[in-house]
Amino acid sequence: MKNKQQNILIIGAGLCGSLLALRMGQRGYKVTLMEMRPDLRKVDISAGRSINLALSDRGIKAMNLVGIQDKVEPLCIPMNGRMLHDTEGNTTLAPYSGRDHEYINSISRGQLNALLLDEAEKHDNVDIYFNRKCESVDFENTTARFTEFNTEKEFIEDADIIIATDGAGSAMRQSYYLGHKFLFSFSQDYLTHGYKELSILPGENGSYKTYKNALHIWGREAFMLIALPNLDGSFTVTLFLSFDEGEYNFNNLITKERVLEFFTKYFKDALELMPNLVEDFFENPTAPLGTVKCSPWHYKGNTLLMGDAAHAIVPFYGQGMNASFEDVVEFDKILDAGHADWETIFSQYETSRKKDTDAIADLAIDNFHEMKGHVNHANFREKRTLEMAFEKTFPDHYSSKYSLVTFNENVSYHDAMTRGRAQDKAILNMLADGAITEVENLSNEKLKTILENVKAETEAILEDDRIAGLK
Ligand code: FAD
Repeated sequence: MKNKQQNILIIGAGLCGSLLALRMGQRGYKVTLMEMRPDLRKVDISAGRSINLALSDRGIKAMNLVGIQDKVEPLCIPMNGRMLHDTEGNTTLAPYSGRDHEYINSISRGQLNALLLDEAEKHDNVDIYFNRKCESVDFENTTARFTEFNTEKEFIEDADIIIATDGAGSAMRQSYYLGHKFLFSFSQDYLTHGYKELSILPGENGSYKTYKNALHIWGREAFMLIALPNLDGSFTVTLFLSFDEGEYNFNNLITKERVLEFFTKYFKDALELMPNLVEDFFENPTAPLGTVKCSPWHYKGNTLLMGDAAHAIVPFYGQGMNASFEDVVEFDKILDAGHADWETIFSQYETSRKKDTDAIADLAIDNFHEMKGHVNHANFREKRTLEMAFEKTFPDHYSSKYSLVTFNENVSYHDAMTRGRAQDKAILNMLADGAITEVENLSNEKLKTILENVKAETEAILEDDRIAGLK
């Protein structure tokens, strides 16, 4: 049975774990949060690992839930659209939405994590410990084995429930897998591409060397470079590239000359802003990208996986953190329902949440292809032009797939995926078969007719999908 005198052990004080500790602390539970790394507020440990991230409406909803959005906002740099850079150095700003109030935000992972820890720590019923690595979890007895870094001492932590938010390489998930005590399904799919973080340093007096309020993309079909702004005037740049395929790949970019040759050929305008490229390239690690899906997330009423530990995704929709924050919002809703025992809570949470995290995992893979190459294709651009016009002219009547995922925090990821894909298919079909011939400078009347036709076609596709799903 659940009650507030019980000890809740949360493993991993990253973005999800810190938020969860804060929320459970606010709800009056006794929380112990254990983190493997040193306290990031005292030691700089962020280098080389997605220094900044895109925070959007689902994440902001979670910040509002715990009442800290006013403290998060000053850490954010709005990004209104994608700044597309072609090989000649020409740029085009492609807005994320036709509605001006819809944008995403670049935020420092370290600053956001630190804020969440500060806020969690304000609660007397929340204790946070660093340098304690979970080695394994005994999910039948609800205990976890830790090693303390500085002393190498091992100890067992007892709890009434354990929630693991220890990221993509979760120790508790590993214990589920190795335990062979129940049927545990697990898949980990790596992309052929990995990533490396680079940087554009600030200009004079902290000025920005390129346009500040956009997510910059140099999409080159087989690989791409992106850049997100930081508050100090710098940009964190990420190269996504195959490990071993193609003329240029991580395995063969091994000399200064070859790295410069690659950037001169494909990212000339970026290279001009990055005199520090070679140092960054050889100093920073190259990391893999993968999708983790597993089930069940919980073992009876004892243990639960959350955040990346339950559903790590590739970063191309900018939703991994947002989804992990939304986990806490959804978990909180289930707590509000007032069930008496943790097993019901965990099971209801997983039942309602899993289809959404599976959906965003699949959408993130789709967006990998969209960002690398589709954004440069004529039919994709025509579709986006039309969608922007729909959103601008009829703001209450249309949301693109991107908007549904990113700005409609009350539409589930699963519904956003289903409707968004049907809309994409409808517009692309209509462009291909000549049902739509123009996309620019349309009168409102003409645009309205096209929107009505797109909506009818979307409904027909959704109906076909529903029938196919019933078969
Ligand atoms: P993590 O942030 O990984 O935190 C896990 C914590 O657990 C860490 O502090 C870790 O030290 C600790 N830990 C791990 N193992 C143990 C252990 N055994 N014992 C104790 N502690 C442990 N998401 C977005 O929403 N927008 C973006 O723009 C975005 N960009 C990204 C770019 C890249 C290159 C990558 C790789 C990811 C990106 N993400 C983005 C995804 C986002 O980083 C993750 O989804 C998010 O960090 C998940 O939070 P988490 O708390 O579940 O896991």
